[in-house]
Amino acid sequence: MSDERHWRLARMTSPEAGERLAACDVALLPAGAVEQHGPHLTLDTDLYHAERLCRDVSLACGEPHPVVLPAIPFGVSYHHDDFPGTLSVSAETLSRYVTEVGRSAARQGIRKLVIVNGHGGNVPALQTAAQKIHRTTGIFVCVDTGETSDVDVAAIAETHGDIHAGEIETSEALHLRPEDVRDERPGLSVPRFALEALDEGGERSVPWFSRTSRFSRQGVLGDPSKATAEKGMLMWEVEVRRLAELVRGLRGRSLEELRLDEDA
Ligand SMILES: [Zn+2]
Repeated sequence: MSDERHWRLARMTSPEAGERLAACDVALLPAGAVEQHGPHLTLDTDLYHAERLCRDVSLACGEPHPVVLPAIPFGVSYHHDDFPGTLSVSAETLSRYVTEVGRSAARQGIRKLVIVNGHGGNVPALQTAAQKIHRTTGIFVCVDTGETSDVDVAAIAETHGDIHAGEIETSEALHLRPEDVRDERPGLSVPRFALEALDEGGERSVPWFSRTSRFSRQGVLGDPSKATAEKGMLMWEVEVRRLAELVRGLRGRSLEELRLDEDA
């Protein structure tokens, strides 16, 4: 494995960071959450996945490695508040915090910022931050909450509507850190909704918001019993590969070539 000093910003000295940022103007910012993930996965599941994905993507990109910024640990998780251990910040706070981190990164020479988001509840706040960073600095900012590989991951998973602590997240945890997956593994928990547009696993669904405890006693949306380490390995490989394709493409092009340049 490549030395941490080649990709993890916080492990570089200031002169080392100066050299690195001159060699590569792409940064990855992991955004996580601290929230319940059923009785079998730990509270840091989204945080760990986002950080680990940034690490693996940066390494997969090869030299010069995109810089991985320290992770934003807390997310917008109030919908899980009924379950012990969940900690949450407001969308306004997360958005503002990430906006300021992004503007600061731009002042340090980052021209393309990829926010790697491990938690669906963060999406509106992070997209707002991305808009604000772009508007005031002119740099490229995007938010990936799995969009680069969702189609591929869904093709591996068997469960329809596997959104939270289900087959996908449990499989990936079994692959990445099996020692942290508890033996008690809930079965299928996907609610039946009265309207097609409310089916989160469907292709015609609208975003909606509700407390998780209203439709899942154990805090699961999906089927953890279908999870295996083998599926997790396949899912993880495709997530790393697809996101690395995007990041390499950004690394090799100027903002002008990407046609994303804009006067700040
Ligand atoms: Zn999660």
